[in-house]
Amino acid sequence: MNAIRIDGKAIAEDLRARVARDVASLKAEWSVIPGLAVVLVGKNPASSVYVKTKARQAQALGFKSQQFLLPGDVGEAELLEVIEELNADESIDGILVQLPLPGHIDLWRVLEAIDPAKDVDGFHPYNVGRLAAGRPALAPCTPLGVVHLIRTVVSNLSGLDVVVIGRSNIIGKPLALLLGDAGCTVTGAQLQTRNLPDFCRKADIVVAAAGCAGLVRGDWLKPGAIVIDVGINRTIDSRGTAKLVGDVDFAEASKRASYITPVPGGVGPMTVAYLLANTVNAAVSRRRLSLVVNPEARHIWPSCDREQDGAVDLQRAT
Ligand code: NAD
Repeated sequence: MNAIRIDGKAIAEDLRARVARDVASLKAEWSVIPGLAVVLVGKNPASSVYVKTKARQAQALGFKSQQFLLPGDVGEAELLEVIEELNADESIDGILVQLPLPGHIDLWRVLEAIDPAKDVDGFHPYNVGRLAAGRPALAPCTPLGVVHLIRTVVSNLSGLDVVVIGRSNIIGKPLALLLGDAGCTVTGAQLQTRNLPDFCRKADIVVAAAGCAGLVRGDWLKPGAIVIDVGINRTIDSRGTAKLVGDVDFAEASKRASYITPVPGGVGPMTVAYLLANTVNAAVSRRRLSLVVNPEARHIWPSCDREQDGAVDLQRAT
């Protein structure tokens, strides 16, 4: 079997085009320009690249985009002050504090300081709790992107067996919730899991989010499985060239899977696209706009399977 690549770059481009249409509608119908503020502490090179990408894409789609670049030794109180100002700023709909933060800053104090209505990363315990309770919530971007990618190849997830490798707050845990809501039977695996290959071999879908290069081998997979590789690992190849690889042995897995995401060009672009989608979503729900910005939008907003209970349904957000 030769797996078909799921082209995250193209799918994210399509999603961004829809978001751009929504931004244009918001402006035309309500004179609203969604605003995204990204806060970066220190000069971590990878974080700087992520922040620039987010700001550039936000600008390209018509958002108001602001970057706050704070020195690595900024005091926690000063950072909290910046967040307070952004919470109070009516022109800002989404606040993202780029992680990781330096060790002298209390991560939870910072995340909990963000207004949950502007928490476009979906990390605030308020949103985490609402997501867990099946209530409308701003959900984390990478898990939303993963579910979206899976839906491009299988529309009905009901009854499928999924293994999610990794149970971090930003990926594994919220992803397990979203997939469970979609009707999947989810096995949440982590470092302590015994016989991980055996769990994977029974799964219709394997999502790898462990941060462990080449962890998932070809013979771990059921023939025809769908494989989503969230991992981003920096490695040096045999010629000494720096390279990004995922958590899946791509060559081996491609021989067994039906569909597979590459690294790079799989989940990564979806994460940024959902940040922008979440920001529009926050702009709409914060203002309680009764607005149909895009009839297709309903399936891109968080937790598409929650339409029945009105979750993030723009038409009913009155
Ligand atoms: P994390 O370190 O917070 O969590 C890793 C999880 O994987 C933990 O639950 C750990 O128990 C589990 N794990 C680690 N090694 C394992 C193993 N050998 N077997 C089974 N479980 C194992 O990491 P994170 O922040 O969730 O990120 C995970 C990966 O996803 C990283 O490579 C990160 O760079 C990447 N990532 C990608 C995107 C994207 O947009 N594609 C976004 C964020 C993070």
